[in-house]
Amino acid sequence: MTTNRLRYELFDPFHDRHIQHVTDLFRGYLHEEFERTGRDADGFPVAPYLRTLLVYAANVPVALCAADPRHKAVELLYVRPEVRRLGLGRHILTWVRGQCPGQLRVKPPVTPACAALAASLGIPVAEVTDDERKQRQATSRRFEQLIAERCRHRKARPPAGKPCRICLQNYVDAMPDRIVGQQVAAMRMVAALPV
Ligand SMILES: [Zn+2]
Repeated sequence: MTTNRLRYELFDPFHDRHIQHVTDLFRGYLHEEFERTGRDADGFPVAPYLRTLLVYAANVPVALCAADPRHKAVELLYVRPEVRRLGLGRHILTWVRGQCPGQLRVKPPVTPACAALAASLGIPVAEVTDDERKQRQATSRRFEQLIAERCRHRKARPPAGKPCRICLQNYVDAMPDRIVGQQVAAMRMVAALPV
């Protein structure tokens, strides 16, 4: 694959094929982040405040990039493993930077590869404020408490303080459809607002 065979499409919440592609890519992202960190990952692939780019190589969806134009921030960048190391991430971030005049930033959490790529392009990773960090920790704690209360995998209990892997895996399997479904509904509602 070379980057000159790529096709970019802007996510359309009324386009069923786009919805399927975003859901599949987001599931890949959540699975990889779960394997990497043992936790659930932040960031939405689509939302009313985001513009999301779908990247196709020979008609196969291979990457997505969700950017928040108002805050000039990349919310989520995901490139499928089989097309990594071909400069695709660099190509996408350069394109997004061209669409967002001013200083673009990348929102954490970022993978080590994404951090290195952003640094090489001179794109800073956004600072996490104390409030954001506290809010994120509180959300994580609530989520892990909920898992601990509902978990029935007694034999698979992880070490103290860690969420159950099976429950977390089930969550990662189920959430992409729900999150994308909710955000698409919100986007359609916004599109239908009388102006
Ligand atoms: Zn469990």
